[in-house]
Amino acid sequence: MNVADSERAATALRQAGYDLTLLPEMADVVLVNTCSVRDRAEQKVYKRIRQLRGVSDKKPLIGIMGCVAQLEGTAVFAKAPDVDMIIGTRATDRIPALIERIQGGEEAVIDLGERAQGEVWDVSPLERHSPFVAFVPIIEGCNKFCSFCIVPYSRGREKSRSASEIIEEVRRLRELGFREVHLIGQNVNSYRPRSDEGLEQSSGATPFCKLLRAVSDTGIERIKFTTSFPRDFHPDIVAAIEECPNLCDWVHLPVQSGSDRILRAMRRGHVVDDYLRRVDAIKNSKRRLSLTSDIIVGFPGETEEDFQDTMKLVERCQYDGLYIFKYSSRPGTPASKLNDDVSEDQKKTRFLELENRQFQLQNIIYHGYIGRTVSVLVEGRSARSEADLTGHST
Ligand code: SAM
Repeated sequence: MNVADSERAATALRQAGYDLTLLPEMADVVLVNTCSVRDRAEQKVYKRIRQLRGVSDKKPLIGIMGCVAQLEGTAVFAKAPDVDMIIGTRATDRIPALIERIQGGEEAVIDLGERAQGEVWDVSPLERHSPFVAFVPIIEGCNKFCSFCIVPYSRGREKSRSASEIIEEVRRLRELGFREVHLIGQNVNSYRPRSDEGLEQSSGATPFCKLLRAVSDTGIERIKFTTSFPRDFHPDIVAAIEECPNLCDWVHLPVQSGSDRILRAMRRGHVVDDYLRRVDAIKNSKRRLSLTSDIIVGFPGETEEDFQDTMKLVERCQYDGLYIFKYSSRPGTPASKLNDDVSEDQKKTRFLELENRQFQLQNIIYHGYIGRTVSVLVEGRSARSEADLTGHST
């Protein structure tokens, strides 16, 4: 989502006549896009701002955009007096106007407002992070309020884009030669546009299932989507994947914990059995679907027994990949009022135990690919060796 926001900001700046550079020492304005899902990400922002101070004699204007800007607001000025602009998560299109205000003599500007009426998601193909793969946001924000999570506060309530706008964007991307689109959002399967416009011809149990079939009808070669929220995961999503060859064979379904007690404290709205029913629908598909997930270890009150329930769940789910996070208390969330009683050492031990087991499990899955031919979209040179290329299968 942050990459998509940067692409959108770059589009607005280029349209306003700016040239873009990746070298801060060349820049008149430096924009730092930020994440606040975990404390470490937030701390990195301030480190980065300190580094930018000495970067050139030019003294570039510094703007902070994204979740840290939205949540901290004017407090950023207090912590980092060199910052000139604070640009909230829905102010991306107004960055050129904010720069103008500074150039017009204002000392510091801040915009934490909503998107303007009628604003369209406009990203120039030149600013996309890849000439082959495009991120297409379909829903912004979050209404779920999981007790650990900052997203509803940093990105506001769920707001779905119109289906006709999304379908038109995918059509254009296909014409421009893009091979793969990722439909993105905090909870893509909670997609609920104001009207059915653009979905009239598509069948589906939910608006998201209709959207998947409508996007498939554009004929773009590959469609991926992330993230799916377990409670809203309808089995018709699996049916749509089975019907449409261009819907890729991958579902990311974050479980967070294998203990019902912890899931309740996390306010996830699902227990282990509900989750496993969704997993079984995915695993029983006619196509072999990859399954990945997110897990938080060391949530307040997590006992060794709770953690072992998570280990059991991971064994049962046989994930193709897993993102593991140590719980990080986020100010203002309901969980931040709980006692963060799992020590840093315990969090680390649990993290490593889970990671080790996951590596063993996924290695068995990966070994199953040896000798098989799969279709890979090459995205560039490997970071590890000049001789190798890197890319993704479906
Ligand atoms: N909306 C998706 C969901 O809830 O399933 C994912 C959004 S979140 C940006 C990505 C992942 O970061 C979450 O699934 C969770 O595992 C992790 N995460 C979120 N808040 C966290 C926190 N306070 N501490 C540690 N990990 C966290």
